[in-house]
Amino acid sequence: MFGGLMLDSIRDFRKYLADLMGQECRSGQRRNIIVLAVDGIDYKHAQSAWQGVALERVTSVFPSTSSTAWLSALTGASVDEHGIPGVVFRLNPNEMVNVFEYQGALEVPQLPTIFTDAIDLGYDAHAVLGDWEDFPGPWRNMLLNDASLVQGHRFYTHADRDNGAGIVQKVEGAINDTLDGATTGKLLWCFIDIDRHIHQNGYDDHVDEVLVGLDGLARHWVQTGNCVIAHSDHGLVETYDMSNYGAQVDALIKYHGVEMGGAGRVRWFYTNGDNTLTVAVMRELQNIFGADATVSERDAYFRTGSLAYERVGEVVLVAQRTDFLCDKAYGYEHGSWTASERDAMLATWQPTDLWLEGA
Ligand SMILES: [Zn+2]
Repeated sequence: MFGGLMLDSIRDFRKYLADLMGQECRSGQRRNIIVLAVDGIDYKHAQSAWQGVALERVTSVFPSTSSTAWLSALTGASVDEHGIPGVVFRLNPNEMVNVFEYQGALEVPQLPTIFTDAIDLGYDAHAVLGDWEDFPGPWRNMLLNDASLVQGHRFYTHADRDNGAGIVQKVEGAINDTLDGATTGKLLWCFIDIDRHIHQNGYDDHVDEVLVGLDGLARHWVQTGNCVIAHSDHGLVETYDMSNYGAQVDALIKYHGVEMGGAGRVRWFYTNGDNTLTVAVMRELQNIFGADATVSERDAYFRTGSLAYERVGEVVLVAQRTDFLCDKAYGYEHGSWTASERDAMLATWQPTDLWLEGA
């Protein structure tokens, strides 16, 4: 990659982009930078669809959940630092929230984002809301802090669900509309929630068709003088509730009067600091799930006393195999830490002169 920057984590994306924008400014070119944010595409599938593209394997955060991971990617902050541990969690001891629906104050630090960096360097910073369009609220404000928001370009949340070619065409329209003829000085981040398709269908021909189509668009945009990057937040793995775990966990929740948070392949249980209850819930969960999940105290995953730590339950249940709690409409899930979930990607279609400059 340019400049020899080593990338380990999706958290390195902010620094990577800031370095690229800095280099563009120093060279005086200030090309537009188009960033395709493709939810749920793991490294392996990007690698097979995108030949000849500079592709990095970058590690997601734990839990490998969209609300948590995209925040870490755009702010560079860890989960402990940004304080959003997942989708469903206790904001404070009295209030359980779904972060995509909640409209009150999230009580989180105000963090700079890739858009803040872009503005500091004199770029116009745009976020094409895309499939975030239906999710206004404080979480989205935090994610897109300092961006000019571009509406009117849904992809997977569009009323008419398109085939692969239709999705690619919509992405092309969204980017071209937002570029609006500008040849320099725009950062444009665009959210494409292909994760919605993968949850139900896995990595099928549609996903391949979209990835190949995006590669074609990216090559065209590079040829016409833009920088193009794609990144993702996590992958998904096959998940089914074959053992009827849902009913068993419901019974446990009812019996002990505990609440459950989390999402997908990571769930947590609130025992309200009652150590006897913590031990009992841990033992029962391990009996129910056996080798299909690990059961740990939250200290195993979150820094003691951090905002995220305070918001998750004392007992954390993490899927290890395909059999787990799962929505009946889904066959693929994420949140846990298997290779496909953990290994996200960062792809760069760059003009060759930039590559040589770093060599
Ligand atoms: Zn996601």
